[in-house]
Amino acid sequence: MKRTDLIACHECDALLHKPRLSKKMSARCPRCGATLYRSSSIHLERICAVTLGALITFLIAQSFPIVELEINGITSKTTLIGALAALWSENMEIVAIVVFCSTILFPLTELLALLYVLIPIRAGFVPPGFNRVLRAIQFVRPWGMIEVLMLGILITVVKMLSLARVIPEASLFAFGALTLMFAVVVMFDPRTLWDIADTLPRRRALEQSARHTS
Ligand SMILES: [Zn+2]
Repeated sequence: MKRTDLIACHECDALLHKPRLSKKMSARCPRCGATLYRSSSIHLERICAVTLGALITFLIAQSFPIVELEINGITSKTTLIGALAALWSENMEIVAIVVFCSTILFPLTELLALLYVLIPIRAGFVPPGFNRVLRAIQFVRPWGMIEVLMLGILITVVKMLSLARVIPEASLFAFGALTLMFAVVVMFDPRTLWDIADTLPRRRALEQSARHTS
């Protein structure tokens, strides 16, 4: 028996055999009834599309102006990055860093990392560094989820300093859409990718075994 045929229940730690699931089935723990995993072939298509859409929306949200700054009597429209730079120059470095991480760095990391594992898996192989990338996704995920809160804080701080006026243009709507898309993306449990990866050939492992037999 291969080690990969076993699964531990995340609720009661029971060690169970892992059955292959066909479409729309889910595996439950016979001891405590917790859902272990679901069949995710249809799910994978959908999450791939939403993640790609979210990345495009993210780029739109970042590249159009979101606030109108007024510095020394000169008004200019600026993007989120520009607003963060303005915060930095107003000696609010910590706010600028926290907002940068939660609204730009972590969501972008999660989207790119997800696409990095999703696209090859959809194509039928496991990309190099697969396990490490999945762990990275689970690490940045809790931080990416507070982006809406952080955007709110940014707007409040900017308004308090009466530096700026938020402009309801493309970028703000893109952020709204991005929030909804992200809600869908975080509903996806990256652990299911491990189960799918078990059924796929690992390129490197295959090459090695081929080398051993020759
Ligand atoms: Zn259980």
